[in-house]
Amino acid sequence: MRLPRRRFLAGSLAAGAIASPIAIVRGQPLSFAADPFTLGVASGSPREDGVVLWTRLAPRPLEGGGMSDSPVAVDWQIAEDEKFARVVAQGTEQATPALAHAVHAEAKGLRPGRHYWYRFRAGNALSPIGRTRTAPAADSTPSQFRFAFASCQQYEQGYFSAYRDMAKRDLDLVVHLGDYIYEKSWGSRLVRRHEVGIPTTLSEFRDRYALYKLDPDLQAAHAAFPWLTTWDDHEVADDYANDRSYTTPDPIQFTKMRAAAYQAYYEHLPLPPSARPRGPFATIYERYRFGDMLDVMLLDDRQYRSPPACVGAGRPATVRHCPERMLEERSMLGSQQEQWLDRQIATAKARWTIVAQQTLMAELARPEEGGHRFWMDGWDGYPNARRRLLESIAAHKPRNPVVIGGDRHAFFVADLKRDFGQAREPVLASEVVGTSITSQGPSAASMQQALEANPQLKYGRGDKRGYATVDLTAARCTVGFEGVDDEKQKDSAVHRIATFVVEDGVTGAEPA
Ligand code: FE
Ligand code: CA
Repeated sequence: MRLPRRRFLAGSLAAGAIASPIAIVRGQPLSFAADPFTLGVASGSPREDGVVLWTRLAPRPLEGGGMSDSPVAVDWQIAEDEKFARVVAQGTEQATPALAHAVHAEAKGLRPGRHYWYRFRAGNALSPIGRTRTAPAADSTPSQFRFAFASCQQYEQGYFSAYRDMAKRDLDLVVHLGDYIYEKSWGSRLVRRHEVGIPTTLSEFRDRYALYKLDPDLQAAHAAFPWLTTWDDHEVADDYANDRSYTTPDPIQFTKMRAAAYQAYYEHLPLPPSARPRGPFATIYERYRFGDMLDVMLLDDRQYRSPPACVGAGRPATVRHCPERMLEERSMLGSQQEQWLDRQIATAKARWTIVAQQTLMAELARPEEGGHRFWMDGWDGYPNARRRLLESIAAHKPRNPVVIGGDRHAFFVADLKRDFGQAREPVLASEVVGTSITSQGPSAASMQQALEANPQLKYGRGDKRGYATVDLTAARCTVGFEGVDDEKQKDSAVHRIATFVVEDGVTGAEPA
């Protein structure tokens, strides 16, 4: 969906002020010589009575934004119609240099389960219009709920055609499961370049987000639907865990970098103000309810996890003998989030219980002579944390638990069990993993080996980029794997490559 752009006409664009993107003339409204809404608009954290509206003023997006050191008043409006004839809420937020002149406005007093349109104004500039949707009322019974989930959008490795396709769909929500930016350049056959090196400072992280957010297809998907987002590793550093990073071994230095990275993440996504980082800490895990149709538990498995097992200060690897990984106290979510999740699972009442987390949860063993290898950066590096999560599901029996994930740059369908080695163990939850938007996938040989050695993996495909759609009704959850024809081509088409179904009351996805 492409939304028309309307310009605010009162006050002339300062044609003479080419040297500076902003001209402030005493007694006149702030006048931008260059469009400050280059990064588009977004909405997120939909509740039944409200939604967060986002934008950032950045007339020179790749040079630190191009704003002065002063705060700027940004007006916002949200309406029941695209022409803003029925404005139902409005307000003014101060866009401050401390947050890169980003705005996170909380629109409240909205009605549940309906579309709204929103826009911003700063001085003489008017933003593009975004569309959003509130959550259905808690006590309501929607007949259908549709969302897409995505992850892993390495900018250099392909165009964001997946988002152009997504934006055209009729969706209630988009869930992003991490690797929204990549800190480093890698991969083969790059189609565009970061042009600069690995960000470590706040201003460098801001410019990296700005580069990604300048993409019109990504902007279109943000402007069309409310998003829920969580981060994975590449928003900070490859395969980091808590305060450990093989790329920045000094924990004090790394923690400073994490603070910069978390802040830039907050500044560029439609997160609620409650998620604003305090130093290197930010609470982004949260529960979202959508009528009696679904409950979403959105997790953060990076910030609190135990250090990777058996690799010392080195890069998490695929390790064979590793008694350390079996330690009971090892945690993926941290004890506080783990207890929180147990309480949410215990009180889940919707027909579908979606656990939205970063990566493949099912075991993926690499068999070889004398034992199995496991990848220490994924849940296989934290098997007891995974067992506790699945035991929480087994104990509380929420309706239709479905785990969704990303990170692997491949589509997977899996059965989640307490003991993956036991064919007769009951399936405790269904799992679907979406492929990357652009990031290159695993080799055909490694996918084939993974599928042959792991019967809990019922489907796997690593050669396609794209995203997943989820169509929920009372009767079933239909998952579509949407594949981009060629991410190296601009405006490539998207085609459904596989469809799986979870029937109400039956655990485990099956081919449709
Ligand atoms: Fe990734
Ligand atoms: Ca990742």
